Parts: sequence; structure tokens; C-alpha cells
Amino acid sequence: MSDPGKRHFETLAVHAGFESDPTTGAVVPAIQPSATFEQDAVGSPRSGYEYARTGNPTRDVLERAVAELEGGAHGIAFASGMAATQNLLYLLDPGQRILLGNDVYGGTWRLAQKVWSRYGVIVDVVDLRDLDAVAFALTDQTRMVWLESPTNPLLRVVDISAVTRLAATAGALTVVDNTFATPYLQRPLELGAEVVLHSATKYLGGHSDVVSGAIATRSGELAEKLRYHQNAAGAVPSPFDCWLVLRGLRTLAIRMDRACANAAIVAEWLTGRPEVSAVHYPGLSNHPQRELVERQMRLPGAMLSFQLAGGAAEAVRVAGAMRVFTLAESLGAVESLVEVPAVMTHASVAGSPLEVPADLVRLSVGIEAAEDLVADLEQALTST
Ligand code: PLP
Repeated sequence: MSDPGKRHFETLAVHAGFESDPTTGAVVPAIQPSATFEQDAVGSPRSGYEYARTGNPTRDVLERAVAELEGGAHGIAFASGMAATQNLLYLLDPGQRILLGNDVYGGTWRLAQKVWSRYGVIVDVVDLRDLDAVAFALTDQTRMVWLESPTNPLLRVVDISAVTRLAATAGALTVVDNTFATPYLQRPLELGAEVVLHSATKYLGGHSDVVSGAIATRSGELAEKLRYHQNAAGAVPSPFDCWLVLRGLRTLAIRMDRACANAAIVAEWLTGRPEVSAVHYPGLSNHPQRELVERQMRLPGAMLSFQLAGGAAEAVRVAGAMRVFTLAESLGAVESLVEVPAVMTHASVAGSPLEVPADLVRLSVGIEAAEDLVADLEQALTST
């Protein structure tokens, strides 16, 4: 599309990657299921497409859209967020180190620590909010810093520009998992990060109906390596999955506005409850990183977590007693979800430096009426 830099994000989200089909005038991209493409002569593919693992027209639209929304030059789509993560870890050689934040999605830790360590990659863990600790943890073998902000599930906020600068001085590239924030709220490439990653299963898709992943970068050199591995390893999304994510992207801004407004109401309400011992939400007026949140994010997001004064058993009871919030893993969709990270999404970090509190409940606040969400929490907290 022409000069996307001049358009607002809300407009870009509706149009990114595709204007209309030049032949039919269709205003949505076609789902192209063909696994292979005819060649006019040996080695002369008619359209540039040869085989659908390598490239597919529907995937191309999604990849362009993700790149545009993140302010990158290249987008690369995957079969899941973890497939995208795996693809980035292919950049590391045996003996090289990855510096991981101490509060990240449990599956990221599992892949890096339990799988990649078998191939000689060394995982270091640090609280990325502590810049002195980051500087200390970086070594000349650190090639990648892996950052979530806000973090999953404790909603900590990391200074992306500052960490990126420190990483660069050590010769490491910074990857930001932007799943919680989305490019509507936060644009890590503009803050200096080399790579942005998404579980597109979450807010980008937005409807709990597709598992998908995506990467964006400005670097042609990095994109070339990542595409090589995307094709070589093959964890690509189906054309239909690409289409579903694209459809979700069109409403990203409006969904986020509503979900963030709901989350702010829910978080403030929870802070006044005697059953709740702590609320973790970047939008709270007494959040210790308030200034950073305002500098780095358009809105504080729609994810929050809280701890129960009654302990772990009470967290499990409350999560199970919710009726409007659905008890389920995942996040970022139109419907509100509740889960207990210690035994669900983050079970794989038990006993590690990333272990999460057992009394923690995580909410993905959706786009329902805020009054119904608060009423549901009230009945769950007070029922026995
Ligand atoms: N990153 C974050 C922050 C996540 O929450 C998840 C999944 O919950 C992933 C990555 C992995 O994505 P996927 O489940 O699409 O493989």
C-alpha cells in the first residue's frame, strides 16, 4: 500500500498487506490452497511460486501485513508461536548463549532450556528490569536477548530501548515477544529491537480459532536466514490459517481498545478486594514502572494477574468458579479467559528460576461488558 507511514495504525490494520485483487476486485485476499505451482519451463515458475512450503500467496499477504503493522521490512509466518521461536533459535550455534528474561511464557523456557540445551545452546536467566544485572549477565558468547514486555504471567515491564542498547554493545540481538502488547500498543522495532515475535494465536488472530506465529524484522540479512530455516524446517501455517489471522488483524485496534478499557476496570476493582493480596497490571496508578509504561506503550494492555490471600488452593477454586471468564489456557481473544499459570501455562517452569507463584490467577480480559466481568469475579471470590 502507498506510504503506510502516513496512516494511523487503525487504518493500517484494516488495509495492511492487501488493498484489493487486481483481477477480480475482491476486497479480501483469496485462500490459495495449491500445494504446488506450474512452471512454464524447467526452473521458470510462472508466478514466482514453486511449492507452498516455500511460499504461498495467502501467506505472503499475512507476512506483508505483519511487517507493516510492526514497522518492519519483512514478515515471516509460522504454524505456531513456538515454531517462530524455534526458527529464531536456529540462529544460535553450539556454545553460544541466550539471555532470557526471568518471567516468560513457560513454553519458551521449555524449548530453550530443555530442548536446545541438548544441542549446546546455553540459557542464562535474568530479571530484565534490572539493567545492572543485564549488563553483568551479558557475555561475549551471548548472541540473543529474549525479552517479553509485559511479561507472562507477572505483567512486569522491561525497558526495551535500554535492554536493546546493552545487548547491542555485547554483540547480541534483541528479540521481543510482543504477543501481550501487540503492535497497536507497542512497536519494539522502533525502540531498537532487531526482531519481533508473536504467538499470532493470541491477539493478532483474536478469536481463539487458529494457532499461528509470526516474526517481523527490518534486517534483510536476518530475514534471509530466517526464511531459509522456515523453508528448510517447514513449520509453515496453512493458507486458511493465514487467512484467519489476516481477518483477525483487521479488528485488532478496536478489539484492543475495548479489552484494555475492560482490563483497567477489572484491575482497579480487584485492588480493593480483601480476598486479593496482589494485583499485577501495568495500568495501575501505583505501578512501580508507570513512567516506563506510559513511554513505551499506547495503553497498558488487557492481560492481568492477581494473587489470592487464601493461597494456591483458593486460586484453583476461584478460577474454577468463574462463569463468564472461561477456564482455559491461551489469551488475547474476544472472550475472557482465566487460568492458574503454576499448573497450566507455566507448569514447565516449576523448580526453575522462572517459577511462578502458586497462588497466581491470570486473566485475559476480553471485549464483553465490564460489569459482567466484575460481577463474575465477585461471585467467584465470594462463593464457597
Ligand atoms: N509467547 C507467548 C507470550 C505466549 O503466551 C505463547 C503461548 O501461550 C507463545 C509465545 C507460544 O505461542 P503458540 O502457543 O502459538 O505456539
